[in-house]
Amino acid sequence: MRRPDVPDLVERARRGEQLAVARLISLVEDGGPELPLVAAALAPYAGRAHVVGLTGPPGVGKSTTTSELVRVLRAQGRRVGVLAVDPSSPFSGGALLGDRVRMGEHATDEGVFIRSMASRGHLGGLAWSTPHALRVLDAVGCDVVLVETVGVGQSEIEIVALADTTVVLLAPGAGDGIQAAKAGVLEVADVFVVNKSDRAGADETVRDLRRMISLGPGEGSEVAGARWRVPVQRTVAARGEGIDELMAALDAHLRWLDASGERERRRLARAGAEIRAIVLERVRARLDEARGAHGLSELAARVLDGELDPYRAADQLAADILPR
Ligand code: GDP
Repeated sequence: MRRPDVPDLVERARRGEQLAVARLISLVEDGGPELPLVAAALAPYAGRAHVVGLTGPPGVGKSTTTSELVRVLRAQGRRVGVLAVDPSSPFSGGALLGDRVRMGEHATDEGVFIRSMASRGHLGGLAWSTPHALRVLDAVGCDVVLVETVGVGQSEIEIVALADTTVVLLAPGAGDGIQAAKAGVLEVADVFVVNKSDRAGADETVRDLRRMISLGPGEGSEVAGARWRVPVQRTVAARGEGIDELMAALDAHLRWLDASGERERRRLARAGAEIRAIVLERVRARLDEARGAHGLSELAARVLDGELDPYRAADQLAADILPR
């Protein structure tokens, strides 16, 4: 395939061309040789969007809530990006058409960019490509980027590493609040949402969460004298209820992030982590080049034979790539 003209793509994407945006995201997902070029071309424009992560168990209403938030944001004239990150999906990313069908009413809106990310089979693929995809949506002028992830395994933790504001969604039900505490979501949530508040048990879930928040460390986090008290919002996303209030809470959190300096701190940590990941990736590649799988298995065999211990073997391998 012809090599893409990256600066031209970025220019067209910034003018709002959906196809150019989609192409840029595909480029960063593929992780090909254009990745550093894309990152360089986007750098001057990135860092403005409010990145909001939404996480919670499957079926809790993340997609419905996301779609409703898009509606509210569009009514306010703000541009929105949506990244649906599903580590369990076997389908490759770039299901732009499918997403647009899913997000029905937003399908033809020029101010909305929607994209699914799936793991495409390679390990660490999503963790690697999601920050890049986010940067694309940020740089093309989205005021808010909503990142939706299934709350399984480590993904809550990963979303925290990406988002300015993390929203944890729960549905009414016995023990939900307790489970939340166990799963460690209490610490990561900036805003709780009890969706499906039309169902029985919503009051108890809200109460449980509030009680847990009040028992939590410091009852909200205090930065530079400004305290953020984690709110518990009730929504009935399927009917669009409580979404204005949720949006107001997200905006309030952004104001707190800016006023307290916490946004800067989180972004610094994020940039640092990304640089570190890039270096680690290079080290990995150098290691593979240095001896290859064959060289490594030779070393491994000597460890098995008792000729070398793993630390001495590691010294030898490291010596191939690290200046002494
Ligand atoms: P996700 O898997 O977390 O993205 O959940 P979805 O947004 O796909 O919603 C799962 C199901 O719950 C769908 O059938 C929705 O229509 C339904 N749903 C979403 N919000 C509500 C709500 O507030 N009340 C009720 N009763 N159902 C809802």
